[in-house]
Amino acid sequence: MKAIIIGAGIGGLSAAIALRRFGIETAVFEAVKEIKPVGAAISIWPNGVKCLNLLGMKEPLRALGGTMNSMAYYDFQHGHPLTRFSLDPLVAACGERPYPVARAELQAMLLATCGPEQVQFGKRVARVEQDDQGVTAWFEDGSEARGDLLIACDGTHSVVRKYVLGRTVERRYAGYVNWNGLVQIDESLAPPQQWSTFVGEGKRVSLMPVAGNRFYFFFDVPLPAGLAEDRNTLRDDLKRYFHGWAEPVQRLIEQIDPQTTNRVEIHDIDPFAQLVKGRVALLGDAAHSTTPDIGQGGCAAMEDAVVLANVLQAHSLGIEDALLRYQQQRADRVKDLVLKARKRCDVTHAREMATTRQWYEELKSETGERIISGMCDTILGGPLA
Ligand code: FAD
Repeated sequence: MKAIIIGAGIGGLSAAIALRRFGIETAVFEAVKEIKPVGAAISIWPNGVKCLNLLGMKEPLRALGGTMNSMAYYDFQHGHPLTRFSLDPLVAACGERPYPVARAELQAMLLATCGPEQVQFGKRVARVEQDDQGVTAWFEDGSEARGDLLIACDGTHSVVRKYVLGRTVERRYAGYVNWNGLVQIDESLAPPQQWSTFVGEGKRVSLMPVAGNRFYFFFDVPLPAGLAEDRNTLRDDLKRYFHGWAEPVQRLIEQIDPQTTNRVEIHDIDPFAQLVKGRVALLGDAAHSTTPDIGQGGCAAMEDAVVLANVLQAHSLGIEDALLRYQQQRADRVKDLVLKARKRCDVTHAREMATTRQWYEELKSETGERIISGMCDTILGGPLA
């Protein structure tokens, strides 16, 4: 059996690794000549970590992951802790640690595990077609590839999605802009082994440890879409948005490098139930684009890869039957993740300020139990619970 995989992001590479482990031949086609991940880092929660462990990356992942032992929310003006708690109960309940990792390093680990020779770069798929025997993908350079099945991991702007659904879906602007990057760990910003978040005014500033003595940082600000982006004014823009915020936030704004700080307007897509058409399956952001508010988009792509490989290996009634089983096992799970993230997004980013103020109040009496219980629900809903 040969699978054509479109896209060499987290989803495509995880899928290639997973399928090859079961002896399925794969050929990965990636549009760009060199992958430049859109964000600086990503938190891989235990559901994603377990998928990567299963795919043979236990040790390299541990080496890339930051040590995140606790979690805290701080009042935006004074920097006082609203709540602070250990993540040990989450680790115990889920049977694995969370690992925040730098994206470029995650991408390199996946590529090394997959085998760089498996990936053909500079191959942008233009259209796909299938018949009773297989699937053909045509690329913009005029070349084509043929396989028994095709896994579309071509991201949130997927071109194969339209082929599968028979319609175009619009991305939905979630109402906020996210700036993210990496800085050296500095204890005057936040404790080094903690996920620390300053909240107020519907905005947030967050710091998470990754390997190499670095913090992954991000700033979220509710803003209209389409504002001009200028690295030369980035520091001043952040100073303006976070005027009056606590000292560590001001220090962080001074320490970031505007040239390597990413700016992303956050979008998602209304969940849809159809993930496959015959021999073609959608995987990762092509199948479910979510806001990053529960840190699950990449983890869900890893789950997709594991489930897909499993159904192809475990069932012998043909490719179309196996892909339908993949859809059955994934559609509700990914819908749940997208909608949970959207709900969290709205509370965090003041879609209704009264609800957000109520959340700030609740944080003052939070022991960690409620937050950890919510996170465990999400994590343990995955295929390797
Ligand atoms: P992508 O990473 O977008 O990869 C798609 C690949 O397909 C790209 O390499 C692209 O070049 C290629 N491609 C596109 N079109 C074509 C074509 N026509 N032909 C061939 N190739 C093509 N997730 C988490 O789990 N935890 C987090 O903490 C987290 N934080 C996030 C923070 C931010 C700010 C954002 C924006 C997202 C975050 N996510 C997080 C989500 C995560 O980044 C995505 O869910 C994940 O990258 C999806 O992987 P993918 O492989 O499906 O898509």
